[in-house]
Amino acid sequence: MDFSEPEEAVQITKALDDFIEQEVTPLENEHPEFLGEDYERHIVDEDHYQVPEYREIRETIRKRSVEAGFYGMGMPEEVGGGGVDVLTRGIVTEHLANRPPGFHSAIMGGAGGPTPVLLAADEDQREEYLAPLMAGEITTCFALTEPAHGSDPHYMDARAERVGGPAGDEWVIDANKYWITNGPYADFAMVFARTSGEAGDYGGITCFLVDADAEGYSVEKVHRTMGLTPGGQCELRFDGVRVGEDAVLGEVDQGFQTAMNWIGGGRIAIAANAVGSSQYLLDLAVDYARDRETFGKPIGHRQGISFQLAELATDIEQTRQLYRYAAWKLDNDERARKEESMAKLRGAQLNNRAADVAMQVHGGSGFMKDLPIERQYRSARVLRIFEGTDEIQKRTIARELV
Ligand SMILES: Cc1cc2nc3c(=O)[nH]c(=O)nc-3n(C[C@H](O)[C@H](O)[C@H](O)COP(=O)(O)OP(=O)(O)OC[C@H]3O[C@@H](n4cnc5c(N)ncnc54)[C@H](O)[C@@H]3O)c2cc1C
Repeated sequence: MDFSEPEEAVQITKALDDFIEQEVTPLENEHPEFLGEDYERHIVDEDHYQVPEYREIRETIRKRSVEAGFYGMGMPEEVGGGGVDVLTRGIVTEHLANRPPGFHSAIMGGAGGPTPVLLAADEDQREEYLAPLMAGEITTCFALTEPAHGSDPHYMDARAERVGGPAGDEWVIDANKYWITNGPYADFAMVFARTSGEAGDYGGITCFLVDADAEGYSVEKVHRTMGLTPGGQCELRFDGVRVGEDAVLGEVDQGFQTAMNWIGGGRIAIAANAVGSSQYLLDLAVDYARDRETFGKPIGHRQGISFQLAELATDIEQTRQLYRYAAWKLDNDERARKEESMAKLRGAQLNNRAADVAMQVHGGSGFMKDLPIERQYRSARVLRIFEGTDEIQKRTIARELV
């Protein structure tokens, strides 16, 4: 067994630190309003859309990240990606998350950027959608969840019907999708709709690539979230949107399987992100515990505080090894459904605990907006909900066991 970090991961994280210092920090310094105590008020307008100045900074970083070779690094080389393995990607994700909130989140694409779901694209779709996505020229969104179906998307109400059109067969899509990340800004959506079978069938769902300017495609309410960057999620409607056969991603009726293949890697990324962010919170708490004195001694010398830090450090190390093990299994072509879910479950819980411990150790100052802890505390909560709730991860783990 070799627990050392792969050389490639070490090199990438070093190069990323230089990139952040040279390309990201100067932009952050020019726009303190987007990171300060009032960031939420400055990032979005009165309709809750992110303002153009904020979008432009993210776009600038995205394009520079493409030039530097970081963007889409997890995509295969044949589509212009870096071809790095899942373990390296996890380590890099963890490294990026181990710092205060900032524009570095735009470097690797994340939601809206290149996604392996699009590896199902045919040659024409690769040229029209994947190439500009890899080049950072456009962004996308993944539209699966509906108002009535989140954990059970295969019961979806969205429908697509095949009809005759002047240029051959066409599809008419009727769908209402909720909480879609990057939905307000995406140039095209990956939309899932039932094309055959019954509610609850895994088969019979098709994924369509739909341009945001298609007739009948609309961004409804931009949702307001408890944490995260505001203006990131919205409701999308597809009212009788007509698309050609060429909009079908992969095989008709097989869209759900395509999506599920991708979701496993996403779970590892969430766990890695949670570990990095939790390490950042622990380090903040340790520094504070060393300096803050009560009753004539640093609080870090009291077991009431130091044991909280010791427990958290142990949980972080445990979850780090768990996500890396899941990644290692995938890189070695082994089935890792159970380990992916275990890592996501523990990562999400860990990050909530880390934010809570950091706040407790900081006392009142942790509750104030001067420090990033309260923002992290709010943002951590969603990790237990999206990309499969805690309960859904347990369901997956149990299914693998039983
Ligand atoms: C910030 C954010 C961003 C998101 N981005 C996207 C996106 O980009 N694209 C997209 O398609 N979706 C997105 N989602 C939706 C997300 O995937 C769903 O919220 C999630 O899958 C849970 O579905 P739900 O909210 O409908 O909860 P429900 O499925 O209604 O579940 C409600 C509760 O019941 C529990 N539960 C459900 N079924 C079971 C069961 N069988 N056993 C035990 N407990 C159960 C759940 O764990 C949960 O606690 C996003 C959500 C959020 C909050």
